[in-house]
Amino acid sequence: MSYPLFYDSVTACDECDLLHRIPPLKSGERFKCIRCGHVLISVHEHVKGRIFGTGCSSLLMLAFALAFPFLGFSSSGAERSITLFNIVSVLINQDYLILSAIISLALFVFPIAYLLAVIFLVWSFDNHHVSMAIKRYFTRWVIVIQPWLMVDVFLVGTLVALVKMDSLADIELGLSFWAFCAYVLLLLKTISLVDRRWFWNQLAGHGPDHLIVKPPVLEKSALAKSITAKQQELIGCHFCGATLLGTAFHCSRCGHSIHSRRPHSLTGTIAFLIASVIMFIPANVFPIMQTTFLGGNEPSTIMGGVLLLWSLGSYPVALVIFLASVVIPLVKMLSLSWLCWQCYYPTERETMQKIRLYRITELVGRWSMIDIFVVAVLTGLVQMGELMSILPGPAVLSFTSVIILTMLAAMVFDPRLLWDKNEGSVMPSSQEKKE
Ligand SMILES: [Zn+2]
Ligand SMILES: [Zn+2]
Repeated sequence: MSYPLFYDSVTACDECDLLHRIPPLKSGERFKCIRCGHVLISVHEHVKGRIFGTGCSSLLMLAFALAFPFLGFSSSGAERSITLFNIVSVLINQDYLILSAIISLALFVFPIAYLLAVIFLVWSFDNHHVSMAIKRYFTRWVIVIQPWLMVDVFLVGTLVALVKMDSLADIELGLSFWAFCAYVLLLLKTISLVDRRWFWNQLAGHGPDHLIVKPPVLEKSALAKSITAKQQELIGCHFCGATLLGTAFHCSRCGHSIHSRRPHSLTGTIAFLIASVIMFIPANVFPIMQTTFLGGNEPSTIMGGVLLLWSLGSYPVALVIFLASVVIPLVKMLSLSWLCWQCYYPTERETMQKIRLYRITELVGRWSMIDIFVVAVLTGLVQMGELMSILPGPAVLSFTSVIILTMLAAMVFDPRLLWDKNEGSVMPSSQEKKE
């Protein structure tokens, strides 16, 4: 049995709330918001088969990555080889339970759950005996955990750790390192193929669940005049992209609570920002890593580590850590504060510039985890007792909380508020933008 690529006829942009009539989409086409350029739908060619293929291959590569040695390390005649599991087990043995839990979630638990859910869903779209409640549960799970998949950041963190250790020891890349690289690339490809709106459309099918806004309302809504969902007393579900009547409290397709604008968005963002600023102080004052070398103990803070690398001539690594650990968190906190300010007291500056700033803030935030992963990899790898060993410092947890808090601040922020102050700037064009 074959299905149309897309059933929804109308959707509101997640970032600017503009209502769009969805044209019939062909395989391989993308549909973008005409006002802010946000990609609303991308229907990839042979998407089910490709998701199934990349998802299964990614899991297979992860199995290989777990089976063989990940990295080898030798210095002054002492040798050590570790698997990916060793990184977690060393942290557990040294009583860094929270850090080991974060590494396990980011590297294994979330990606495996994500891949299994995506593969199951793609299979279940053509199998109608699978209960709708189960499909709905898995689709929600896929959307919730996707921002927390950080295997690519971990890979870059591992490379930084290798460059850092290069002058002190001989490092050998194990078979599992290459399998891990393949796992990361295949997982990223799978993520790029998963389109939220397309998934919900396939899940709901052409059944009653799908007729969310009844046709008479659609006819009355002046879609041709480029108008927002709020102006039409409609609500765009930010979770599944359905368009609902303004009187609804829950989305009839995904079950998520719906609001024209996210309630307490600005106060929530500001609260997360204040918490992250507070945590940023211990994150920079206390050491993030403790190195024991020939019996001597050398704790180093984030900035101390950057300055040391710079003085040793490792300019690219010093720059990467400085950008990821100092510049990105600071810029993110400042940008989000400025965006909140703009929602209360908008300036003449173009809303599109503010939206671009918001998108960059959302995109780069998780890359701050590089330094945490560097410390975790080095802790797993360098355990030679008094000769040389590395342990995480007390700043690791406060710095991780800074990253998580700023990510939550960006997620809670509702970019539609930026447009509300400039409703006059709605574009007159009614042309749908297709690629
Ligand atoms: Zn938009
Ligand atoms: Zn929904």
